[in-house]
Amino acid sequence: MPELFTLIDRLAEGERLTHGEFVTLIGERTPETTAYLAEKAVETRQAIYGNTVYIRGLIEVSNICKNDCLYCGIRAGNPNCDRYRLTEEDILSACAEGYELGFRTFVLQGGEDGYFTDERLTSLLSAIKQAHPDCAVTLSLGERTRESYQRLYDAGADRYLLRHETATRSHYERLHPAALSFDNRMRCLRDLREIGYQVGCGFMVGSPYQTTADIARDLEFIADFKPDMCGIGPFIPHKDTIFADFSAGTVELTCYLLSIIRLIHPPVLLPATTALGTIHPEGRERGILSGANVVMPNLSPASVRKKYMLYNDKASDGAESAQSKAELMRRMEAIGYEVVTARGDVRKTFAQGEHP
Ligand code: SAM
Repeated sequence: MPELFTLIDRLAEGERLTHGEFVTLIGERTPETTAYLAEKAVETRQAIYGNTVYIRGLIEVSNICKNDCLYCGIRAGNPNCDRYRLTEEDILSACAEGYELGFRTFVLQGGEDGYFTDERLTSLLSAIKQAHPDCAVTLSLGERTRESYQRLYDAGADRYLLRHETATRSHYERLHPAALSFDNRMRCLRDLREIGYQVGCGFMVGSPYQTTADIARDLEFIADFKPDMCGIGPFIPHKDTIFADFSAGTVELTCYLLSIIRLIHPPVLLPATTALGTIHPEGRERGILSGANVVMPNLSPASVRKKYMLYNDKASDGAESAQSKAELMRRMEAIGYEVVTARGDVRKTFAQGEHP
């Protein structure tokens, strides 16, 4: 155990751990090392971002998806999913409502829905940017060609979230059908970075067949890639998938990994995700107290919110809903944090020169 404290100190000093050391850090954790790690992570985040928590308004634009990711409730092969797609008008009015509520970043997320062609998306992006020139737009619409990413960037998209899902090829293949490839996922992330987006990767904690060595490889990938954002949340089974009977990831391990990621790459924008808020009533708070600094409440129209059901019982009201921003602010203030509405770009002063 004393070895673990040394590993945490080395991480906090900016040292790169080896694969074996990451495995030890994860596999031999205790409540004491967890508390020590969280303390270091919070100190590190505090030095860069103070006690600020950024909010992003999440708009779930469509649950129609051509892919069949084995874990996902909106996978193409799920006949029980009640499909919807927001119109451009719906999306613009969600942005307008969000703007009134104080949001300055909109995250457009959805399944890989062929309706959202480059033409439709570039026109949508221009309309959002015209209405809200002071806002950042983040896209999270899955895998596209480099040309497509370039067109969307040229039309005003600032950031792109594409979780790598797992940095272990064989694990990736157990979570996805043959039509989806690990190489293409990684190609997308490289293209997005090269084009100039602020890029987010990430993975599910406790996904089926995930081993400690797999998680260690995820951490090594994050250390190499140095994403601007990193979305990690517990895997939660969905009743209509083949993983229905697998157990969910834990709050405890998710928070532990949030702390490690904060130390691996201090300036990273790190959300306390909806999945974390779903498996525990205070999941978001616990994420922030472990080193996270972003929350992404839901701005989608109430009528569709329950349809974007990636996993069982996905939270969609209470602190998850953007309309309850006051409640979210109160909850964050209760743990000593201040929710700010600024765009909250990654602190380039810390990130510059670090990107490969
Ligand atoms: N289609 C886009 C993509 O693949 O990046 C964005 C939408 S996708 C539904 C967003 C994320 O949801 C995925 O990256 C995945 O990590 C997460 N997700 C899907 N099913 C999940 C589950 N059962 N439990 C937890 N997270 C899940």
